Amino acid sequence: MNEPTPIRGRCLCGAVEFQLTPPTDFVAHCHCQSCRLAHASAVTTWTSVSLDRFHLSTGEELLRWYRSSACIEWGFCSICGSSMLYRAVQEGHPESPRLNCMYVAVGSLIDPIDQAPRVHVSFEESVSWLHYGDELPKHRAKTDEEVEDPIDSQETVASDLT
Ligand SMILES: [Zn+2]
Ligand SMILES: [Zn+2]
Repeated sequence: MNEPTPIRGRCLCGAVEFQLTPPTDFVAHCHCQSCRLAHASAVTTWTSVSLDRFHLSTGEELLRWYRSSACIEWGFCSICGSSMLYRAVQEGHPESPRLNCMYVAVGSLIDPIDQAPRVHVSFEESVSWLHYGDELPKHRAKTDEEVEDPIDSQETVASDLT
């Protein structure tokens, strides 16, 4: 039986390298403020794999974890600062991230991922200065509840200015 080809990821400087063994669990665009500040970017696209499908190839001693709350840690390279990983370290987070898996920022992957994004989450926290032309569902927090796309109201504002 053929092993699936691993999907490689790395930090900017290359000191930290890792591999995911597909299939990945999901791919979603997260618009929450925590992801935005952690990555200094409008949106963070996440995937996850169970821990047995995540392998840190190099730089384990250079990977640091920032604990933003009792339940959550963010993994980044201590040399170049690339923020790549997210994990739950104990139960109790309101959105129940899974303890037995590694969440991986898709932007840190250097190989194609095995599936396309399916959803926007925490869309109610999205920035007003970037618009998304896709037809994917836009959900409130990490729920299945749809959020109205604020682009309509932004267009109203823009036309008021002209
Ligand atoms: Zn680095
Ligand atoms: Zn987020």
